[in-house]
Amino acid sequence: MNLAKFPRRRYTPYFTPIQKLEHLTEYMGGPQIYIKRDDLLGLTGGGNKTRKLEFLMADALSKGADTIITCGAVQSNHCRLTLAAAVTEGLKCHLVLEQRVPDSYHEHASGNNFLFHLLGVERTHVVEGGSDMMAEMEKVADELTAQGRRTYIVPGGGSNEIGALGYVACAQEILQQSFEMGISFDHIVVTSGSTGTHSGVLTGLMGENAHIPVIGIGINKKKDVQTQNVYNLCCKLCDELDIPKFSKDEVVVFDDYIGEGYSKVTDGMIKAVSLVAKKEAILLDPVYTGKTMDGMLDLIRKGVFKKEEKVLFLHTGGSPSLFAYTDYFWE
Ligand SMILES: *Cc1c(COP(=O)(O)O)cnc(C)c1O
Repeated sequence: MNLAKFPRRRYTPYFTPIQKLEHLTEYMGGPQIYIKRDDLLGLTGGGNKTRKLEFLMADALSKGADTIITCGAVQSNHCRLTLAAAVTEGLKCHLVLEQRVPDSYHEHASGNNFLFHLLGVERTHVVEGGSDMMAEMEKVADELTAQGRRTYIVPGGGSNEIGALGYVACAQEILQQSFEMGISFDHIVVTSGSTGTHSGVLTGLMGENAHIPVIGIGINKKKDVQTQNVYNLCCKLCDELDIPKFSKDEVVVFDDYIGEGYSKVTDGMIKAVSLVAKKEAILLDPVYTGKTMDGMLDLIRKGVFKKEEKVLFLHTGGSPSLFAYTDYFWE
């Protein structure tokens, strides 16, 4: 795959590290656990949206946009990073925030919400849970267009065939690092949310014929729905990249670690976030990577991986939102 043919901005001037989690590996008694530190990507606070935004912002700039519009939940990492990318490029940014949990929006809340303010969002538009987010963003775009602005809409999570190229690039990066380190990974574990990360990594590995299975841990949708959503984006990516489509069987999703729903706290998440902080001094997040780590640890306990196998956990970031959840960790 030749990714160089797609326009790209650069927000991370290095490969993110892959480290072995020695203490966690010893504590669990195997498999050999590694982590890809995408929490250390560029832009404000790092995290997976930075990779997607490299391709999305390049597209926006090529179309002459002066204002970026995107959407997310009230503590959205994606909104923070899209705003940060807009600031970096000297563009304005509007955020449409969905109150997925009733009454969860507080104007002066901490975490990412505080950063929206600090980074100078032009305006936030708060809408009720279940709203048609694309329609809401188009409404904002129409208003701004009427004022003479040139808008560009980044879809939720940056997960379309442009943004997901960032994770195709990440798959290539992992393979190159793996080659240089002399370590061949047997499994890669990723969070499966708006699907850009999962679809991008899987399509990238398939496109390179790497045959490393990808395990997606869901954080909001039922397994069947999520599997289809991931697969749909994989197919679009294959077209974009001009590579053959692969079977839907390659898409593996677990939906056992969601708890009551998106962003709702689970015991497993609290335990996983606390364990990784205490064993490895690495901060996970309550909404995505904490639940994904809970899932991976549970699969380890169930004997899904062999002791000597090498498992790579993709750390997609999110720790700024931890500070909006501190109460749950004091108990
Ligand atoms: C958005 C996000 C994810 C999920 O990635 P998708 O590409 O939306 O599936 C995982 N972790 C963090 C920290 C995120 O912000």
